[in-house]
Amino acid sequence: MALPARADLERRGLLVVPGFVDLHAHLREPGFEDSETIATGARAALRGGFTTVCAMPNTEPPIDSAGLVAELMAKGAAADAARVLPIACITRGRRGADLADLVELARAGAVAFSDDGSPVSDSRLFRSALEYAQVAGRVVIEHPQDVSLSGNGVMHEGAASAGLGLPGMPAAAEETAVARDLALARLTGARLHLTHLSTRAAIELVRQAKADGLAVTADVTPHHLALTDEWVSGSRRFAWEGSEEDARQGAAIPYDPNTKVNPPLRTRADVEACWAGLRDGTIDAIATDHAPHASIRKEVEYQDAAFGISGLETALPLMLAGVSAGRAPLETVLRALSEAPRRILGLADTGDWIAIDRDAEWTVDALELGSKGKNTPLLGRRLTGRVVIAVVNGKVRYDAGASAAFA
Ligand SMILES: [Zn+2]
Repeated sequence: MALPARADLERRGLLVVPGFVDLHAHLREPGFEDSETIATGARAALRGGFTTVCAMPNTEPPIDSAGLVAELMAKGAAADAARVLPIACITRGRRGADLADLVELARAGAVAFSDDGSPVSDSRLFRSALEYAQVAGRVVIEHPQDVSLSGNGVMHEGAASAGLGLPGMPAAAEETAVARDLALARLTGARLHLTHLSTRAAIELVRQAKADGLAVTADVTPHHLALTDEWVSGSRRFAWEGSEEDARQGAAIPYDPNTKVNPPLRTRADVEACWAGLRDGTIDAIATDHAPHASIRKEVEYQDAAFGISGLETALPLMLAGVSAGRAPLETVLRALSEAPRRILGLADTGDWIAIDRDAEWTVDALELGSKGKNTPLLGRRLTGRVVIAVVNGKVRYDAGASAAFA
């Protein structure tokens, strides 16, 4: 279809802004195509306003060779939806034992390196990773978690986990990892990106490190900005809502496996710290950590369920709700979704753009989601704000159907 004029869309009340860039998503292909494929994930990304989506390498096989990077890029291009960029492994097979060939992976097209989900616990190896990534001209994206401390925890360790009788992951498991990562960034002088920060103390550590001039950047997820560990107990109110909201949402259903995510949903104080970090620039970016799962991995007992929330299509309305509640200015949120992740990854501005209807109300419905992953605790929830048009490389690649009215 013809490219609609941006000025016309704006005149009709739509918000026209640069396309979002998700620096952390799981597209599951190869290996877990029952949960997502590159094509379904790239389409879900566009529906959520992400004209660029970066695929994490925890696939089967993991993306640790130039050939696999090239294959992923070819599948991304064939999907003809969001631009798909590969993140390659830090270590061979994500086993945390020896480094992948980071220079070769970068040459093949990897935009960053991460063993996300399997943090590099060997500090000497992580030091080398930071140094070699610098040579390769790419950033290391680290999932900060001391897995020996988080142990078999399935949610945040605190009052809610005690009440439910579920094993918890202490906030300290994130904080000790962040402290180590920052110490190694200081030692090497290399760039480091910390992904999905979720605790008050972790964010404070990054604030200090930035004040000291370290080349560190960080992101938070929409779910850590909007939801608390009370959701595991059955609450359905956003972090900025009062108890009336729970009454309005009906009976609480605790132990919803769709609230199980790593890092876990935290306390209100942590959520407030995430927003404060976003406002003062300690947190640079918002990334979804989109983690789709086939229902067989989620529709089981809480302790047995896989970690992860399907998040590409609900990120925008969650963030708009936070803006409406006064948690951050709209410009701050939009910058954290587009300009900041581009800067972190060193990507050129491709001029991709989206048009948003800020007032469109919709209900999160498993059948309507473009992602194969229906695992979101927001199912059945009314949200406000939708992407109407997404333009990639000068072509309309997503059109919610409303654009005819706007043409
Ligand atoms: Zn992670």
